[in-house]
Amino acid sequence: MYTKRSHSLAFSRSYDVSKKKREVIKPQLNFTDKVNNNETIPFIPRIKLKPNAISPLSDFFTCATIITQIQCGQILIHEVHKKYPELLQNPYYREIQAFKLTHEQIQLRTPQVPKSLDDTKYVYVDCKVELNKIMDHIKLQRELAIDLEAHQFRSYYGFTCRIQMSSRTNDYLVDALALRDELHVLNNVFTDPSIVKVLHASDNDIEWLQRDFAVYIVNLFDTFYAAKQLNLPLGLSYLLETYCNVHTNKQKYQNADWRIRPLPDDFIHYARCDTHYLLYIHDILRNLLLESCQNNPLHLQQVYDRSRQVCQKTYRHRSFDPKAVKKLKLSPLDDQK
Ligand code: AMP
Ligand code: MN
Ligand code: ZN
Repeated sequence: MYTKRSHSLAFSRSYDVSKKKREVIKPQLNFTDKVNNNETIPFIPRIKLKPNAISPLSDFFTCATIITQIQCGQILIHEVHKKYPELLQNPYYREIQAFKLTHEQIQLRTPQVPKSLDDTKYVYVDCKVELNKIMDHIKLQRELAIDLEAHQFRSYYGFTCRIQMSSRTNDYLVDALALRDELHVLNNVFTDPSIVKVLHASDNDIEWLQRDFAVYIVNLFDTFYAAKQLNLPLGLSYLLETYCNVHTNKQKYQNADWRIRPLPDDFIHYARCDTHYLLYIHDILRNLLLESCQNNPLHLQQVYDRSRQVCQKTYRHRSFDPKAVKKLKLSPLDDQK
């Protein structure tokens, strides 16, 4: 049962359903990968294929016997470190390190103003057929905006509920609970070094992609680090208001229950706004970074280097801190979003 506090966090006033209907069946009960809540058992990503590889995926990742033994606690963590260190490292570390900016990425270009939400194609994706269709579209893009919504209140490590993506023409909202076992295909685009992935304050998103889908990012431009480099306020809300005249209620929706289905219209609107304008914001910040240095790409490169460091992180289960759940609401992230 939810506590009084979690009720108020999970459901906005506009989602006015009876108390009985508010019960959400725990989605994690349907996950094919059983969630490992034992902190002594190391996290091993479920990666089986490695598109856009420079170095091949270690065979250990596909060796069911070794993985099962680790997950059952038969191989202890210090042995994993000794015998199978690859399993504890970021499988795309080398590709992220090797990635080089293209000429196009470090040039001043006219920002592409996005169409209004009403004039933009919007697709809700909750089946494999639709997922394949969006893959066909996003693999043709030069840039892609991405954001994740997660559930963290009533679960041990938490899980991703929705992934938003925007190209220059389309907005997608992906049901990451329904497609949890399929989303590894995103690696085809997310690790493609020729496509810029634009996220805002992506430290958590990078970890959640690794934890829930074994998805990695090569070629990241994080607008948070761009704003930081430019000494601008760091929140996405500020960037949206300043450059796009769009107002969002971050506090309400960051704390909302993203597990619920169907998603109410105001949730969909909020989710779309998180990525719809992000490529345009990227265009503006890229130009500002170039202009701040007499068109020398130094500052822009510093933002890409900082973004590269975020991509190179490796997700690990952290000790659970019940106080952290409380802290979330007051987290300094509020200043960044
Ligand atoms: P955002 O990138 O702002 O859309 O936030 C993505 C996710 O981060 C949300 O779905 C929440 O799970 C989590 N989150 C971010 N900021 C907060 C916050 N201040 N309090 C609680 N959860 C947050
Ligand atoms: Mn985000
Ligand atoms: Zn978001």
